Amino acid sequence: MEKRRSDAGSSGKEAHAEAGQHGGDHRALAQPHHIVQYGKGQTGGQGNQGKVKEHLDVAENFTGAVGNGDDDALTGLPNRMFLDTLLKMRFSEYHRLHRLFAVLFADIDHFHDFNGKYGHPAGDRMLKAFAHAATHSIRSTDTLGRWGGEEFIGIYPIKNRSDIIPIANRFQKMVEQSFIHHEEHPLHITMSVGITAVQEGDTPESIIQRADDYMYEAKKKGRNTIVHDEVE
Ligand code: GH3
Ligand code: MG
Ligand code: MG
Repeated sequence: MEKRRSDAGSSGKEAHAEAGQHGGDHRALAQPHHIVQYGKGQTGGQGNQGKVKEHLDVAENFTGAVGNGDDDALTGLPNRMFLDTLLKMRFSEYHRLHRLFAVLFADIDHFHDFNGKYGHPAGDRMLKAFAHAATHSIRSTDTLGRWGGEEFIGIYPIKNRSDIIPIANRFQKMVEQSFIHHEEHPLHITMSVGITAVQEGDTPESIIQRADDYMYEAKKKGRNTIVHDEVE
């Protein structure tokens, strides 16, 4: 039931080089990264239909920030309103066309301490650095946006449920590659992450709740961890 990997992200040569070269306090890269598989989830509520239609074109060809009020002011990533809209569109495709998708919920570990130790401006730069890495590495069909504070949501069209494994690996690599320089030292962050694929009976609220629950599970497992659906 439980699968652990100590080498997730190690295929990211730059990330590894980064980890080997530098000695910032907030690296936490020495810790093994665990990916834990999970069983089937639950169901939940319902959301508004709003701007789904008018965003269809944008969402179909989405590559990053929209730049028209749908982007987050600090990071330039799609904001929560856009994510809400896109999620409804993905549900509509799932119901009409049986197209699967996965939702990722990521929360930066101990970010309060990071701000306390290095200052809020450094925290802001870290958020931007992560957003920069995300914008440059995410695939054109995928979307990563800022849900709020130090929380991010990814929406990934998938062909098979097992596709969440490479999604987890790519995400971990992206986190490892994100860093800022602070007083000549590189600072890294780690994240706790939940990833789950859409299930019958899901709603926008229920799939986000399940990804959030997995994320919380990842926190409890020691952070710097990805928890996801069980995959055959
Ligand atoms: P945990 O590992 O349990 O998630 O710990 P945490 O410290 O990350 O969680 P907590 O919810 O206690 O704190 C979230 C922190 O994120 C506190 C807040 O100052 C910081 N944060 C949220 N938004 C921003 C932002 O825009 N800029 C900066 N610099 N910090 C932010
Ligand atoms: Mg949080
Ligand atoms: Mg946090």
